[in-house]
Amino acid sequence: MILFAAAVEKSASLYGEDAVSHATEQILSRFDRFLSRRNDQNDPQRGLLVFAEGRFDKRAKIWVREFRQLGTRWGVLRNLSDIPYFASVKETRLLQLADFVAHSVFLLYERRDPTFIAKFIHRFDQRDGTIHGLRHFRTETAVGLCECPACYNWNHPGRYGPWLGLAATGQD
Ligand SMILES: [Zn+2]
Repeated sequence: MILFAAAVEKSASLYGEDAVSHATEQILSRFDRFLSRRNDQNDPQRGLLVFAEGRFDKRAKIWVREFRQLGTRWGVLRNLSDIPYFASVKETRLLQLADFVAHSVFLLYERRDPTFIAKFIHRFDQRDGTIHGLRHFRTETAVGLCECPACYNWNHPGRYGPWLGLAATGQD
């Protein structure tokens, strides 16, 4: 299983629905590029988007349409199915899994608790030791280097950095 997630720090200029939209755009773009790589390896697949029903599902339909029309800032989405689907978390085990991954990312970034994510950090999409499936967006006022796994790995391919601790991953 390959995972994708985005952690967005809310700020005065990025919050609420915009923050959710930004994270969604990031994940779709990365998922699309993952499918492109599969395509290059003669494994053509279409990506299916399944959103959890709830607070954002009406908006999500509009975002997805916009993403498809305009492409993302980094390229056009080419490998996704035309229509996003919506399902109840209660009845969909994959959405429950996605919920768990999201909660694990939240615990890492909000409470610096790597207990869960340390067990599956290697499942985020990566190539040649560089993680593409996990992104961290800091506020524009953030100072200093971030040593979260996503930021740290960018400068140190193959490594996850100090947030996860040595015991959790067997490497730094
Ligand atoms: Zn970071």
